[in-house]
Amino acid sequence: MKVLKFGGTSVGSAENINKVITILDQQSKNTNIAVVVSAVGGITDKLLEAANLACNKNEAYKQKYDVIWSIHNKVIEGLFENSANDNEIKKQRDSLSDIISEKLNDLKSLLNGIYLINELSPKTKDKLLSFGEALSSTIIYHTLKSRSLDAALKNSQEVIVTDSNFNNAIVNFEVTNSNIQNFFSTNSNSIVLFPGFVSKSTHGEITTLGRGGSDYTAAIIAAAMDANELQIWTDVSGMYTTNPKLVKQASPIIELSYQEAVELSHFGAKVLYPPTVMPVLKKQIPIVIKNTMEPEAIGTTITKNTVNTDNSPVKGISNIENIALLTLQGNGMVGVPGFSKRLFETLAQEKINIILITQSSSEHSICFGISANDAQRAKEVIDTVFEYEIALQKIDPIVVETDLSIIAVIGDKMKSHQGISGKMFSTLGKNNVNIRAIAQGASERNISAIIHKNDVKKALNSLHEQFFEIKTKQINLFITGVGNVGERLIEQIKQQKAYVKENFKINLRITGLSNSRKMVVNDEGIDLKNWKEQLEAGETASLEGFFQHAKSLNLRNSVFVDITANEAVSKIYGEYLKQSISVVACNKIACSGNIEYYNELKTLSRKYNASFLFETNVGAGLPVIDTLSHLITSGDKINTIQAVLSGSLNFIFNNFNAETTFYDVVKQAQEEGYTEPDPRIDLSGIDVARKVLILARESGHAIELADLESDNFLTDAAMNASSVDDFFETLKTDEAYYQGLFKSAEDKNCQLKFVAEFNDGKAKVGLKEIPEGHPFFNLKGKDNIVMFYTQRYPEQPMIIKGAGAGADVTASGLFADIIRIANN
Ligand code: ADP
Ligand code: ASP
Ligand code: MG
Repeated sequence: MKVLKFGGTSVGSAENINKVITILDQQSKNTNIAVVVSAVGGITDKLLEAANLACNKNEAYKQKYDVIWSIHNKVIEGLFENSANDNEIKKQRDSLSDIISEKLNDLKSLLNGIYLINELSPKTKDKLLSFGEALSSTIIYHTLKSRSLDAALKNSQEVIVTDSNFNNAIVNFEVTNSNIQNFFSTNSNSIVLFPGFVSKSTHGEITTLGRGGSDYTAAIIAAAMDANELQIWTDVSGMYTTNPKLVKQASPIIELSYQEAVELSHFGAKVLYPPTVMPVLKKQIPIVIKNTMEPEAIGTTITKNTVNTDNSPVKGISNIENIALLTLQGNGMVGVPGFSKRLFETLAQEKINIILITQSSSEHSICFGISANDAQRAKEVIDTVFEYEIALQKIDPIVVETDLSIIAVIGDKMKSHQGISGKMFSTLGKNNVNIRAIAQGASERNISAIIHKNDVKKALNSLHEQFFEIKTKQINLFITGVGNVGERLIEQIKQQKAYVKENFKINLRITGLSNSRKMVVNDEGIDLKNWKEQLEAGETASLEGFFQHAKSLNLRNSVFVDITANEAVSKIYGEYLKQSISVVACNKIACSGNIEYYNELKTLSRKYNASFLFETNVGAGLPVIDTLSHLITSGDKINTIQAVLSGSLNFIFNNFNAETTFYDVVKQAQEEGYTEPDPRIDLSGIDVARKVLILARESGHAIELADLESDNFLTDAAMNASSVDDFFETLKTDEAYYQGLFKSAEDKNCQLKFVAEFNDGKAKVGLKEIPEGHPFFNLKGKDNIVMFYTQRYPEQPMIIKGAGAGADVTASGLFADIIRIANN
């Protein structure tokens, strides 16, 4: 014999019931089958909602009832849609409708009764809940008959006997087993249908086996009959590595041991009601979890010893929502026996289930996790029991924390693998998931942690990535500033995405995009094919709004990328870092502004385990800062840095000579985009000063922009010009002066270069005459060059040279920073 159980979704519509019937038809050809069915999907919840409304004197319960009525009638209609032409079938359908109407009328009377007496006792609740399974099993039974299958319907209440613990009754196995065996000894139908979940107490009252209990009904029947197999048919293709509704990448686990299944289900894998395993485990009956909607999928097989096709010590990760953490603490507990006994006895008397316990070895406190629904009751009874000790201040009143969840990592083989908990907690830590309590059983089959409910999705996804997808790491980018450089970065990501995933196991996603007007956020990742249209259609941009999106999405490995030159944007980095969101900036303001802010960002980066990278601040895509940081980390000391760091000034001095005018060259540089729209920003040397300041700070020197010596080569008139146009006018007027600069250099066979220097803790910038033979002499176009003289490179400097400006190279510098973070 085999026992098959079909859950709420499987019997949730005529279409799905037809799939169930196909499965039953096939399987009953080979062996007799017992079939357990749940209520039609969602009905148990609706019954409860209607009863609660009625009990609260709210007439809306009638509408709930109407919904329940119409759901069942729709199912019948769908199952008998072809009955019009067949009189016999039509008769069967009418008789089924009559039976169901009668049951629904009984339900209505019961709800009216609850409304009138204004009360819903646990006993009445069970009576009410039993309607769900009674209705579904009756509908399916009559449908099977109408399709000429050899079926019988047996009310589980006549065989499953329990105590009177309503809503969660305890089964009397002795009586139940013999009832089931007696029933089958005289039954010869190839299909026997049972309503799940319902039972009867020894006093004849209706009881239920706990929410989700139809799985248990099936297991009880399977164990009593020593069945060959227990099949749980549901709406997913097996027990998954984690809840597939929360983690897209979750996949079905092919094999599990009974113990692993118990742990996973106890810790929230709802697909299997936890008590289900015990009866079949004793008889070693395999459990197979299958998907009614996809019967060909292999599903999950649960047995005593798994063959273990995969070597992963972690089999699954699960979570329980709606948890409260209670802490009993006080010096009076240390070394005094009996506290825990009294505590846990009190909870047991109140029938409060404890999900997790931890006690520190100092015995100063005991923490335990329970359902948040029980928290207030638990606090009251415990504070009462320990009233005397609380009054004497030996212990504190119990502390209750809510809005929590438990997450658990589970696997039989975890005990023979070191470092699982290390990996678990470092993954959570890296993602800024605060852990409130930890428990690990001596079996080492389960490590659990209590965390805030808002962190559950992130925690499950990061742990899943860590233990099951080690191969790929998802990076979520929030990009602000989509001008020239931003566009190039998005293009590069689009182009390289597949390559990076394949070769570096990094899954780059742009989750948020913003410019100064609009922003768009999508936690599934923005489709890069039409990002511009999506951005245009997005909501009004705001720095704070964008940050709030990134914060509330709470995605793992998030990175904020600033591709603006905006001071306000640079002010918000700290907020991102505090959420453990890394920051990549092309914007120089944060690193070259006030040193306190720069230091604060560095500290936050360390404290919250989030990177703060700004390679493109100096030399665009050239690896200047990264190289400097490697030199310093490896113990080298920087003696001198000499550099040419301005593409705009290079362009100008490479083109300026006796045949041109300074005015024409600067104008050309402006028109061709080599300078800022206001060329004074480049020509005054402020941009170069900021860059060398950043290099000095990165070499460990706490200096401010004001400490920098700036040897300005512009005339006073140019410096004091009131507008860009005025500034250009001064260039014309002062042409002779600029020609003089050129002539002086030419006479010495030198080239003019705007040079940044850092030496002996001092930084300066200025125009210099560079003699032939010097590495700066032949610098072309917009190239930058940086020379590091260090303890290890004392005479021959380490030189980095190449294009130091341009959208493409800057974007690739940003790209490199993002990859550095991903590899971290
Ligand atoms: P049924 O009505 O068939 O008994 P349930 O709703 O009780 O179905 O259980 C199936 C659901 O369990 C799935 O739809 C899924 O959302 C949830 N679930 C939670 N954790 C897991 C897991 N680890 N594997 C599979 N399903 C899970
Ligand atoms: N119908 C019951 C419930 O929803 C039992 C079950 O479906 O397993 O809890
Ligand atoms: Mg279920």
